Amino acid sequence: MLTMPGAPVAFHAMAKPTGAICNLDCEYCFFLSKEMLYPGSRFRMAEGLQETYIRQLLEAHARAPEVVVAWQGGEPTIMGIEFFRRSIELQRRYAPPGQRVVNTLQTNGTLLDDEWGAFLKEHEFLVGISIDGPPDIHDTYRVSKGGLPTFDRVAAGLDVLRRHGVDWNVLTTIHAANGDQGARVYRFLRDELGARFVQFIPIVERATPATLAAANAGWGNEVTDRPLYVQQGNLVTDRSVGPVQYGRFLIDVFEEWVRRDIGLVYVQMFDTALANWVGEPGGMCVHAETCGLQLALEHNGDLYCCDHFVEPDYLLGNIAEQHMQELVASPKQRKFGLDKRDSLTRYCLQCDVRFACNGGCPKDRFATSPLGEPGQHYLCPGYELFFHHVDRPMRLMAGMLANDRAPADLMGIYATTDARRGRNAPCTCGSGRKWKHCHGVDRAA
Ligand code: SF4
Ligand code: SF4
Ligand code: SF4
Repeated sequence: MLTMPGAPVAFHAMAKPTGAICNLDCEYCFFLSKEMLYPGSRFRMAEGLQETYIRQLLEAHARAPEVVVAWQGGEPTIMGIEFFRRSIELQRRYAPPGQRVVNTLQTNGTLLDDEWGAFLKEHEFLVGISIDGPPDIHDTYRVSKGGLPTFDRVAAGLDVLRRHGVDWNVLTTIHAANGDQGARVYRFLRDELGARFVQFIPIVERATPATLAAANAGWGNEVTDRPLYVQQGNLVTDRSVGPVQYGRFLIDVFEEWVRRDIGLVYVQMFDTALANWVGEPGGMCVHAETCGLQLALEHNGDLYCCDHFVEPDYLLGNIAEQHMQELVASPKQRKFGLDKRDSLTRYCLQCDVRFACNGGCPKDRFATSPLGEPGQHYLCPGYELFFHHVDRPMRLMAGMLANDRAPADLMGIYATTDARRGRNAPCTCGSGRKWKHCHGVDRAA
């Protein structure tokens, strides 16, 4: 068994077998421009490297009961099914007895057909599919290489997953086009798509004065028309979600979820918040005290600190030259993870919801705090709004868990309170609208 001093028992690596290559051209995609990091590459993970990767990943998790093999992109399905069949064979060859291997795939869904569906089901893949909401919203930014809408193609891919009984979840990015429509987006995902696992990811596209105009005008037809996206600048594009808008989006969804979906629909942000209120580790690195356990592997074996930092300064090394466990345990990576906690502003350190927020992802800490300090998270006003809004229900659910009760019991408390609320009372979400026209729709008597 390989043991490296200081190596974590488990970590999460997102492998990109096609690098940044994708068949779509989503306008907000920060990753497409990473193609420029590898000029002349074929952008296909070679068989030898695939074997090295699977072997090292399983070795590095020898002390963990479970290891996640996560494929991402770009668009990983461009590799074709045979690549993934081989991955399963390699897992069988290298997994020590008793180790459970979970395969995940993040996809735009457009290339899935019945052969894929049968394969993903047979090998129990967990598939994340990217959908931004109803077609009018989804097609705003998620477009094909020719700029055409993609919703129908994605929906066809989702049908494949449903037909074959594949476990799937939806990843929805929050941006200027859907940021004001939280409840509508959520209801669509839940009711029209049947989603039971939902992840929301805010789109924050950093820009410098030099890149902003080009970014807002839309990129050209070639990937090289996009400047290499790096975490620089303290401006954002027009597509980015606003700080308060993001907080309001989450509240809009929460007010719907808390009344009917606790225990039925898993919303990663709410689950993570509850974990932090209970004092347990949550599922989102963004709201963990430290990070550094979410790495990104490029098609050629280059391992980076994080999927959001695939840029030269954050390259740890290449797994063909150095075992990935060494790279994960390296001082550079440990510092990367600890810096998240150690670089908090004074404003964050004084914040009463820091235990839940932890200052957000370092990639978006480019705003100025109310105390005038640089390095504040861009979304801080939204985080403050959301975490304060959910404080009481989170405390109640934490109390229920402590007393061996299901958090879903909270829905009964809400129902009782809602029954007493006047139809014309202001809505609980803070939108300023009347209850009967907002979250009280279908509920107010
Ligand atoms: S599907 Fe994903 S990788 Fe492809 S362009 Fe869209 S956001 Fe980027
Ligand atoms: S940099 Fe951000 S996205 Fe990356 S691991 Fe840290 S918190 Fe997570
Ligand atoms: S809510 Fe704002 S001040 Fe509080 S921890 Fe988060 S980013 Fe910092």
